Amino acid sequence: MSRPLRSYVDSTTICPDHPHFASAYVCAIQRVGIYLEHYSGALFDPDPDHQPWFKPNVLKVSDVSCVGHLSMWSMVDACASQVASVFETDLNFSRWCPTATTTCVQHLHCILQRLPNHSDIFTAPPTWIAECSDFFALCRALDLRSTRPKAGRFNLWGDAAVSKLLARKRPALVPVMDRVAGDRYPSAVGIRAKWAAFHSEVHGDTVLTAALAGIHAAACGSTPWITPLRLLDIIVWMHESPSGR
Ligand SMILES: [Zn+2]
Ligand SMILES: [Zn+2]
Repeated sequence: MSRPLRSYVDSTTICPDHPHFASAYVCAIQRVGIYLEHYSGALFDPDPDHQPWFKPNVLKVSDVSCVGHLSMWSMVDACASQVASVFETDLNFSRWCPTATTTCVQHLHCILQRLPNHSDIFTAPPTWIAECSDFFALCRALDLRSTRPKAGRFNLWGDAAVSKLLARKRPALVPVMDRVAGDRYPSAVGIRAKWAAFHSEVHGDTVLTAALAGIHAAACGSTPWITPLRLLDIIVWMHESPSGR
C-alpha cells in the first residue's frame, strides 16, 4: 500500500523514511533542496525568464531535450532528429487548420493551443482527463506520432516520456507518470487511469496545497518557476526512486 501523497508533506506526522526530521514537511524541504542542487531534473520545468525559446503552445526539440534531464537521455538520442521535423510539419499544418480552435484532434499543436495554459491539477475538474478531453486527445496523438512500426515496438516513447513531454508544456497541470509515480496506483491500468487516480487524490486538498506552498517558499527561492505540482513529483520521487534515496 503506497503512502498517501499528503503524508509526504504533512507537518503533523514524521517521515517514516527519515524519522530524524521534525516532520514530513521539514523532510520534504530538505529533499527538494538536495534535488535542486544535485539532480539534472532541476532543469526540467520551464523558466520563462531565462528560456526565451520556451513556448507553451509549441512542441520543440528543446522540450525533448528537457525530458532528457529526467534520466531519459536515451529517448533524446533516439528522438531528437526525428521529432524536429514531425513537430515542425505539425505546426505548419496546424496554422492553416480550419478546426484548430474547435474540434481538431489531428494536429498536436491544434490540441495544445486549446489546453488552458494556467489550469492546475489541484483545481482542474476531472473532465480535464476524460476520454473525450483535449488533453487526452493530445496524449493519444503524441503516442501515435511516436509509433515506429518497423522497430517492432508499439510505442517508441512510452507513457513515461509522453507524460514528461506534456508535463513540460503544462507544468501546473500534468503530473509526471513514470514508473515510480505509476506504481502508486497498481489497480489503475494505463496512463489516463493513473492520472485520474492522481487527480482524485490531490483535487481540492487544501492541506496538501498549503504545505506545498510552504515548501515552495522555503526551498525554491532561486527557482521560483518550479510549480507546486512538480515539487510534489520531486518529493515523492526522492523518497521512492532508488536513484533519489
Ligand atoms: Zn523523508
Ligand atoms: Zn488541426
